[in-house]
This record gives sequence, structure tokens and C-alpha cells, in this order.
Amino acid sequence: MDAKTKEIINAYKNNKLTADEPFRFHCTQCGECCINRDDILLSPMDLFRIAKELNVSLEDVIDRYCELYVGYESRFPLIRLKPRGVIKRCPLLKNRKCSVHKAKPAMCAMFPIGRAVEFSEDERTSSKTSCIQYFYTDPGCGDHARTQTVREWFDHFGISLKDDFFIEWATFQKDFSTLIRETEKAFGETAMRQLWSPIFGILYLCYDLEKEFLPQFRKNTEELLCGLRMTANT
Ligand code: SF4
Ligand code: SF4
Repeated sequence: MDAKTKEIINAYKNNKLTADEPFRFHCTQCGECCINRDDILLSPMDLFRIAKELNVSLEDVIDRYCELYVGYESRFPLIRLKPRGVIKRCPLLKNRKCSVHKAKPAMCAMFPIGRAVEFSEDERTSSKTSCIQYFYTDPGCGDHARTQTVREWFDHFGISLKDDFFIEWATFQKDFSTLIRETEKAFGETAMRQLWSPIFGILYLCYDLEKEFLPQFRKNTEELLCGLRMTANT
């Protein structure tokens, strides 16, 4: 496990919150969270919303603002906002304002609250459940002038606590990472290089911006998992 993943897991364990537990934080609007950042990952939904907000294609968003790579540990195809200049400014920061304010990535909208999906299995019945857990780590900015719960924080920014996409996305990431490891074992490096490109395409680009996002996401991820299961079993 790399240092960054360890740090995230420790922060998560030590700073867990339920939706109704309070945390003390007040944003002073200094804008510092949009610089010195190279960790803003986009989900397919973030990308979809940004493309719609800017009225450009998904390819254009990737081309202008993003970087694609495969997570070293997770073996997951990732897209992050590519920071600019020595101060690592977010490419979507324009005139000191977020140019996609209404469609900013979920991790920016919730900051400094983080969230993760916890999966569990009942040993007796083998039934699987999943739920969203929240965590708060003092970001070292703003002040402590206000106390609020996660629910109140989300309400304030118009974010829903019920997020089907987030649970489905985390479930897909877990299943995909398991299957891709089996595929990588079965295939050589050269064959894998040819696979990554269609995987990125199906996961992040095969969407009609005029149609609803979630059904398209479900179809694309099901297709990917099906293809990987077949490939891993050949
Ligand atoms: S997407 Fe917007 S809120 Fe997020 S870092 Fe970039 S400019 Fe800031
Ligand atoms: S969240 Fe923190 S870094 Fe970002 S604008 Fe608010 S106070 Fe500044």
C-alpha cells in the first residue's frame, strides 16, 4: 500500500463522522484549496456534469483540463484535473473563481468533508450491505467559528446525502480492481496496453450528454465487468 493510500485510510478511521455528528469549521473563502492541488480526481459523473456546464464535449474537457493514468496500487483507470504552473493551480480556476461552480467535482463541493463506502457481509446469511461513511480532517485553513453537522453542511451546498451513484461507483471500483488484476495476470503487458484505451473510453466517454447520466453509467460499467469476466476466464 502506498503512503498516500495509507494516509487516506488512517484519516478515514480516525476521523469518522455520522451524518448528524458535529464538526467545527468555517470557510473564509481564501481560495487556497484550488491551488497546490494535484489530487482532484473526476468520476464519470463529475466529467459529465462539467462538460454540460461548459457546453463542450467530454473529450474536450479531458483534452483541455485533465490527465489520464492507471492507479499504481488500485489498477483503476483514473482521471484527474491537471494542475498548472509552479503553484499547481486547478485548470478550472478562472479569475480566482471556480469556472464550473454549479458543477464542481463532488470532492470540491464537499470539502473538507470526505466520504467512502463501507462494504460488509453477514457471515451467517452471506448478504452484502454497503453504506456511506463520512470523515472530517482539519484542513488547516478557514477557522473554527462555526459548528455544523455533515447533514447541515451538505444541505447548505445542495448536496444530497442519498447518493446512489457514489455507492454504485465505489462498488464498481472494487469489482473492477479485482477483475483487472486477474486479467493482468492472464495477459502480457503489451496486450494490456491495448485494453486500457477502450476501458477509459467506455468508462468515461461513452455518454450522450443529452440523456440521463445514471442509466448510461450502469450500462457502461456492466459492459466493462462482463467483458473483463469473459477475458479473465479465457
Ligand atoms: S474544480 Fe473548482 S472548486 Fe475544484 S479545485 Fe478547481 S477551481 Fe477549485
Ligand atoms: S475551504 Fe479552506 S482553503 Fe478553501 S476557500 Fe475555504 S478556507 Fe480557503
